[in-house]
Amino acid sequence: MAENAPWTYDPSNIFARILRGEIPNKTVLDSAHTLAFHDIVPQAPVHVLVIPKGAYVDFAHFAAVATAEEIADFHRTCAKVCETVGLNADGFRVIANAGAHGHQEVPHYHLHILGGRPLGPMLVRA
Ligand code: AMP
Repeated sequence: MAENAPWTYDPSNIFARILRGEIPNKTVLDSAHTLAFHDIVPQAPVHVLVIPKGAYVDFAHFAAVATAEEIADFHRTCAKVCETVGLNADGFRVIANAGAHGHQEVPHYHLHILGGRPLGPMLVRA
């Protein structure tokens, strides 16, 4: 990462620990640059997290710094997850949280893939 890059990656985050094999996960797919696994606190009947294997903090960091190969592998793995867990027939939702307003809790870029029931409107108005 360039010295003046706005992102600082914390290698002690829980997804980094999963990638290092320090804690277990329920893997759905494992590709060259991407890991997909079931969320430990599912918010829907199907709730899969997809993470790049590289050290990226969030959506913007991944988009700015990841290689084209990593980006293609990541998105193709997301699509393959939907196929693998049977979400394509009835549909699904993909969410990327970022920063404080996005309520991102784990500072390693990830997408949530949710489905298995009607998910309702995207947001409940506060
Ligand atoms: P976010 O708020 O977007 O950062 O989401 C983090 C997600 O990681 C939450 O949905 C958590 O339930 C999930 N999570 C935290 N620890 C684990 C773990 N060890 N295995 C699987 N999912 C986890």
